[in-house]
Amino acid sequence: MKKIALISTPWPLFNRPSIQLGALKAFVQEKLPSIQVDSHHVYLNIAASLGYDLYAKISESTWLAEPLYATLLYPDRAGTIERFWQKRSRRLGLVERLSYQGLCHKIKNFSARVIDKERWENYSLIGFSICFGQLTSSLWFIREIRQRVANIKIVVGGPACAGDMGKSLLQCFPEIDFVIQGEGELPLVRLVEWVENTQDYTSEASIPGLISRHFHNGSERVSQVPHLDELPFPEYADYFNHLKSLTPEKTFLPKIPMEISRGCWWRKKAGPNGSAGCAFCNLNLQWLGYRAKSHHRVVKELETLIEKYQILSVSFMDNLLPAKGLETLFKQIQGIGKDLRLFSELRATTPNEILVAMGGAGMREVQVGIESLSSRLLRKINKGTTAMDNMEIIKNCESPGTPDITGNLILGFPSSDELDVAETLACLEFIFPFRPLKGIPFWLGYGSGVFEMPDTYGIKRLRNHPYYAYFFPPEILQRLRLMVQGYQGGVRYQNRIWKPVKKKLEEWRNTYMELHRVPGAGPILSYQDGQKFMIIRQRGIGSYDMTHRLQGTSRRIYLFCQTQRSLPQILSRFPGFGEEKVGAFLNMMVHKHLMFTEGKKYLSLAVRAR
Ligand code: SF4
Repeated sequence: MKKIALISTPWPLFNRPSIQLGALKAFVQEKLPSIQVDSHHVYLNIAASLGYDLYAKISESTWLAEPLYATLLYPDRAGTIERFWQKRSRRLGLVERLSYQGLCHKIKNFSARVIDKERWENYSLIGFSICFGQLTSSLWFIREIRQRVANIKIVVGGPACAGDMGKSLLQCFPEIDFVIQGEGELPLVRLVEWVENTQDYTSEASIPGLISRHFHNGSERVSQVPHLDELPFPEYADYFNHLKSLTPEKTFLPKIPMEISRGCWWRKKAGPNGSAGCAFCNLNLQWLGYRAKSHHRVVKELETLIEKYQILSVSFMDNLLPAKGLETLFKQIQGIGKDLRLFSELRATTPNEILVAMGGAGMREVQVGIESLSSRLLRKINKGTTAMDNMEIIKNCESPGTPDITGNLILGFPSSDELDVAETLACLEFIFPFRPLKGIPFWLGYGSGVFEMPDTYGIKRLRNHPYYAYFFPPEILQRLRLMVQGYQGGVRYQNRIWKPVKKKLEEWRNTYMELHRVPGAGPILSYQDGQKFMIIRQRGIGSYDMTHRLQGTSRRIYLFCQTQRSLPQILSRFPGFGEEKVGAFLNMMVHKHLMFTEGKKYLSLAVRAR
């Protein structure tokens, strides 16, 4: 039987199969049943050999991950790369007993073992899926395989190959024959047919979505499956067989990746700065438009995957879940009656009813696109949300029956200023009762809105991030276009103005941890409802709980504002109370940090006690 191989190299999360490999394998096998597709999760080999803890720590940072295989790729740069790695690993708190050289030596041995045990000459084509942090490892494996089998065809694809990044890989690395631009399924099937049937470089072959050093007229035009329901279910058997082959102490229960949609519907909206989608985001370079599977298909796929692999933990890999019908979908998922553990990313505008439906279906954790607690800055980012929206979802995720939230605050976004910082700090004063966010420094992604319109954000001299200069020789680097970009313009100023926010985030994390040290301590700010009155309880460090009793209309206003309400909404709901009295009550609640206010909107902060 004719065979092709699909490879995913370090450093993706080791505890789940590659969704790219799973989707491509299933599609090629469905369309070309005479072809055997083997998917090689090389990252699982390396993680199991290296130790999962160390692998996980390295995979958390692209600047820890990329240098390791860069050292194998360019041994004459080892000294320079080692100095860089030592600095970064210390800063990121990676305490490693092995020397850097020892670590590289181990990785080289483990990787060589993976390569030597396979008969690559049996494959007519080898495809590499290159995502974030997988560039140097993919290049090293490509080079090593090519050295062993000189005439094997190599194709690469994935987010790190979009647009000019893919073209530059083709220019700089002669071992790569083809680059897929955009979605992989259709171009890969056409390429496999070409490899198996003609291999005629002189013909006028043109495969949409595939560029090549061979074809006369390779086509950059993205070619994608029109309806996601047409895709077969992803095929993860190779990963699970691999896992079974490990010794008992190395096995674990993995998570299954699944997608409900591809692309992002928010990208259709052009913001005040003209950029479509969130200005920092480059997650959707691969997709044209937004496509989602039907509910029926999602539920069937989910049921099939959990039955087939006997796993109950599923991560939805979507950049953005569909805007409509989520409550119904998650109620249907709940209806299948399994104790699932789900994960997903979400927009901050997701209402509480959906969060509750998700919680009921087994959604344990959501990563929410918070990014900022300043509405002014959120407008610059074109996030389409406000600080109040963010506060509301963070609060809702503290309530019983909803998923736990994780989210980031972008520090140092170009064009942010002292007023943005002041708004953030003011908002942080109210947010202490809830699960802390993580501060992350802004990084400039190739193809993002900021990258496309640098003038708008006050930056200039865009080029590959200077850190890449440690890994690649200058003659290669100057021709490469890479995922993380460097720039000039206000970087020092940004670092300076965001320092107080960094400090506040640390204080927030410490306070939250301290107040949750006792298991089952409950929310920091909660209420119990007695129907005619309610009691709000505020916990603090080293002090007795503060309690507040609200009665009658005060109680009803507080409950009405469990979701953000404007002053006119409150007044028309409680007409007999009068603007002056309502205003005084709301101000008092804000003063006590029991409510949050922004632009004449009010949000109650206490969540129902568990
Ligand atoms: S961050 Fe999320 S919502 Fe924003 S453009 Fe990217 S995928 Fe879309």
